[in-house]
Amino acid sequence: MAAGSLVIVFLGPPGAGKGTQAARLADDLDLVKISTGDILRSHVARGTELGRQVGPIMERGELVPDELIIAIIREELAGMPEVRAIFDGFPRTTPQAEALDALLAELGAPVDVAVLLEVPEDELVRRLLRRAELEGRADDNEETIKRRLQVYREQTQPLVDYYAARGVLKRVDGLGDPGRIYCRIREVV
Ligand code: ADP
Repeated sequence: MAAGSLVIVFLGPPGAGKGTQAARLADDLDLVKISTGDILRSHVARGTELGRQVGPIMERGELVPDELIIAIIREELAGMPEVRAIFDGFPRTTPQAEALDALLAELGAPVDVAVLLEVPEDELVRRLLRRAELEGRADDNEETIKRRLQVYREQTQPLVDYYAARGVLKRVDGLGDPGRIYCRIREVV
């Protein structure tokens, strides 16, 4: 039996735990996790044309241009007979959210839930600096972390209102044990 379409967006600042929680939810609900950050990092690692273009932008903690991101998403969604997806780290700007809505409208599968993982900024910085030691990501250094948080506040935070206005926003406390946070997410999804 077909499970039907299901589209979930994960919103939240860098370090909120979107990737971890989205992966678990994708597994449990049989959804494809689409992480623009992972896709971009894979291009950088493989040295593709796109990777060469976006690498320096990512190292500065700035956002990659909307057109490039939207092209990636269009490609990911193409050929999905039924959209069952979790977006992690996308959309990050209002034009990206509008483009996603337009693409999903064509596919007849609107955003069902936007999960906002809420974590205070001092905790985010602690987590990202810890991740820097463990994973050595090029953008996990103190200066770039500050810039990424500022970019989040300026460009991505408006999406909280965007999804609230559509009645799909669910706020989840992102502090504490990852297992407990996951339980909170399951209560709203
Ligand atoms: P984090 O949530 O920790 O910032 P991500 O892996 O989501 O990590 O993103 C890493 C970087 O990749 C961002 O700082 C940005 O440069 C780029 N990026 C990822 N997703 C997007 C997006 N949707 N729009 C623009 N840039 C993006």
